Amino acid sequence: MTRAAPNMIASTLVKYSGPGLAEPSGIADQDQMADEPTRGRYGGAAKPIGRIHWAGAETSDIWNGYMDGAIRSGRRAAAEILTRTS
Ligand SMILES: Cc1cc2nc3c(=O)[nH]c(=O)nc-3n(C[C@H](O)[C@H](O)[C@H](O)COP(=O)(O)OP(=O)(O)OC[C@H]3O[C@@H](n4cnc5c(N)ncnc54)[C@H](O)[C@@H]3O)c2cc1C
Repeated sequence: MTRAAPNMIASTLVKYSGPGLAEPSGIADQDQMADEPTRGRYGGAAKPIGRIHWAGAETSDIWNGYMDGAIRSGRRAAAEILTRTS
């Protein structure tokens, strides 16, 4: 993945938000596709936390953000709950 140059980011900030952002004190960027918990999803990780199981389109591994993903995630969460051992 090509990272945007800091001056390109600054010029975009100025274009949309005004000259006050011409010289930011710093710019931090993150490769969200490399972020293990989310893999670029809008939502968070789908792994259960204790007895809390997550469903919803944004937790789906495929068709993330669409109806198909929502239904798949519901089925996945239901299966997780049905196979709980504790
Ligand atoms: C304008 C628009 C067009 C779209 N077009 C398409 C399309 O053409 N094809 C496609 O596949 N997808 C489309 N989508 C995406 C699709 O609608 C969503 O991915 C899908 O509905 C998500 O389902 P979900 O069950 O994850 O969440 P949601 O459908 O958002 O369901 C969440 C439910 O939880 C309820 N809720 C929230 N907070 C609480 C609470 N505290 N207590 C109790 N209930 C709560 C909400 O009221 C809601 O009913 C579109 C989305 C939008 C906004």
